[in-house]
Amino acid sequence: MTLPAQSRADECPDDLDRVVDLLAGRRLAVLTGAGLSTDSGIPDYRGPDSPPRTPMTYQQFVGDAAFRRHYWARNHVGWSHVRRAEPNAGHRALVALEARGVVVGVITQNVDLLHEDAGSRHVIDLHGRYDRVICLSCATVISRAALAERLDALNPGFTESIGDVGDVEIAPDADAVIEATAHFVVAPCERCGGLLKPEIVYFGENVPRERVARAFALVDAADALVVAGSSLTVMSGLRFVRHAAKAGQPVVIINRGPTRGDALATAKLDAGTSETLRALDARLRSPRPDQAAAAAPELSPGSEEVA
Ligand SMILES: [Zn+2]
Repeated sequence: MTLPAQSRADECPDDLDRVVDLLAGRRLAVLTGAGLSTDSGIPDYRGPDSPPRTPMTYQQFVGDAAFRRHYWARNHVGWSHVRRAEPNAGHRALVALEARGVVVGVITQNVDLLHEDAGSRHVIDLHGRYDRVICLSCATVISRAALAERLDALNPGFTESIGDVGDVEIAPDADAVIEATAHFVVAPCERCGGLLKPEIVYFGENVPRERVARAFALVDAADALVVAGSSLTVMSGLRFVRHAAKAGQPVVIINRGPTRGDALATAKLDAGTSETLRALDARLRSPRPDQAAAAAPELSPGSEEVA
């Protein structure tokens, strides 16, 4: 982290060789986004080929009963799709890199828990997790699976009537879907009758302060930051790129299409995350002191004392 940032990503095209040279011997913090999960069949609404979509805000959710009904109806169909998804080669490469001490931890903007499913041990779910629901009044947390049983009982036959999950997720504002969700019955908190909300951070909501602090600490514990599969559209992710760049850490961005962090990146790979992370797993050696000396003799003194 004492090495100066090299040429900016927009000044020359980057390739894998340069990224391997840049990251060799360093401990990596990894920030992941929706692009990492597309190979697991979970669509990335901000990807280069995605249809335009207006994200729901927290204010809409708490302020509009009709909107909330529509949201829960879609969520009730969509959540089981996420539950069935499986980790892909990108998730598995990060597990292997962590096991060798190359990756110190993963900060993910995804709520699908696929890093945990794959076996990553140090994961910060920045935007929450899809498998939990919280009451906005009494803060009781229940599992999404338990809520699913209640919603099924309140809405017999609904899941079957809505058809393929892909139709709902890809065309969330289609008239047919809104019509189908008009009579959906939402479940209140069983303890206090309050509003239930997935334990997911929405637009207009802040990531809990303690969680942000842990994520900054993870970046500080590493010698470089790798962003994989995020366009860094929201500040909740972009701030870690700014933080690492300001600290003089190399920042490598792996993403199809431009990102808001490109101007801060030391290197940018316009590539898929599964194949790129697999290649990094194959080529990056452990940064432990005994091996780092052989792998990266130019590594500056002091880098090894970072825990
Ligand atoms: Zn409650």
